Amino acid sequence: MKNKVLGIIGGGQLGRMIALSASHLGVKSYVFDPSNNSPAFDIASKIFNYKYDDIEAIKKFSESVDSVVYEFENIPINTAKIVESICPLRPSAKVLEISQDRLIEKEFLSNIAKVKTADFRNCPTIQDLESALKDFNYSAILKTRRFGYDGKGQIKINNNINPEEVWKTLEGHELILEKFIPFKRELSIILARSEDGKTEIYDCVQNKHKNHILDETIAPAPNLDIKVEEKSKHIALRVAKALKLIGLLAVEMFEMHDGNIIVNEIAPRPHNSGHWTMDGCVTSQFEQSVRAAIGWPLGSSKRNYDIVMKNLVGNEIELFNSYINEPNYKVYLYGKKEVRDGRKMGHINRIIKKNSNTYEFKS
Ligand code: AMP
Repeated sequence: MKNKVLGIIGGGQLGRMIALSASHLGVKSYVFDPSNNSPAFDIASKIFNYKYDDIEAIKKFSESVDSVVYEFENIPINTAKIVESICPLRPSAKVLEISQDRLIEKEFLSNIAKVKTADFRNCPTIQDLESALKDFNYSAILKTRRFGYDGKGQIKINNNINPEEVWKTLEGHELILEKFIPFKRELSIILARSEDGKTEIYDCVQNKHKNHILDETIAPAPNLDIKVEEKSKHIALRVAKALKLIGLLAVEMFEMHDGNIIVNEIAPRPHNSGHWTMDGCVTSQFEQSVRAAIGWPLGSSKRNYDIVMKNLVGNEIELFNSYINEPNYKVYLYGKKEVRDGRKMGHINRIIKKNSNTYEFKS
């Protein structure tokens, strides 16, 4: 049997964990990343250390692999299209294009997938911003259309805001204003879809943030009404179908107090809120992404354990000392040399007997 080779664009922790999962299936990983100390390079069979817009390098990379996945959305779309002209890109360049721009994404979600999102307005000028602020009664969030993550490129708006000041703060970026959603909690769902349209969907989880960065994922989401769970899964499947997805997709949602679900955003790649699947499920999100990319049948997404996943952000990496020897905790470190505030250094999964109604990270 000829060994398959997976190309991974992006060499961060997600790329690293994709490569590790690929290795369990005997699949080699070639990793493309411009930075010279990427965490995934430790695992890669071959490194492509070039800029994302280096056309010759991206062509060589694509010609040397069987298919390609990516671990983040901010890849130049031209690069994605070049990859796709040479080998399968999972998910497709079209899906990437939709997910890398909040305006295109929200238009797609509401007009094509026909799922509920926060009300939004495109704000190409300050006049558009002023009129959108009035529409939303000054209860809104101003976001950059592109390159935002972990709350970066976002300003929460309230009554006292001076539109000119916020405009100046984000000047030079294309902007979108979203109505503020008074949600009950944040949920997410991850699913995979194969070439033949078969899907595997994971249980709906709850996400808690600290300083705009994911702090904990509780899997499954505690006390989730069965109807709300069905609704959230239905929505995630609907989005995947509308995208004609092949590969992995994370759908971030808000649960409202009345049980309604509003989609916040989508990510066509492994997601931080899916790290629980590494110990909670038969097949992890990373393995699922490899399987979908190389055209193998998807694995079962069945949950065997409940999990509370805690991110180790910045200095929290020191927590690993307390848990490395604990029997029901699985520690993952990403091999990043430099600890920085807000930098994701690793995570820990607390493994809990299924359905035991335990939702805390600490035992
Ligand atoms: P995002 O980058 O869009 O995922 O936003 C980061 C975080 O900001 C989310 O996880 C929410 O906690 C919050 N957020 C984003 N959009 C809204 C909204 N329209 N209303 C209320 N909170 C929001």
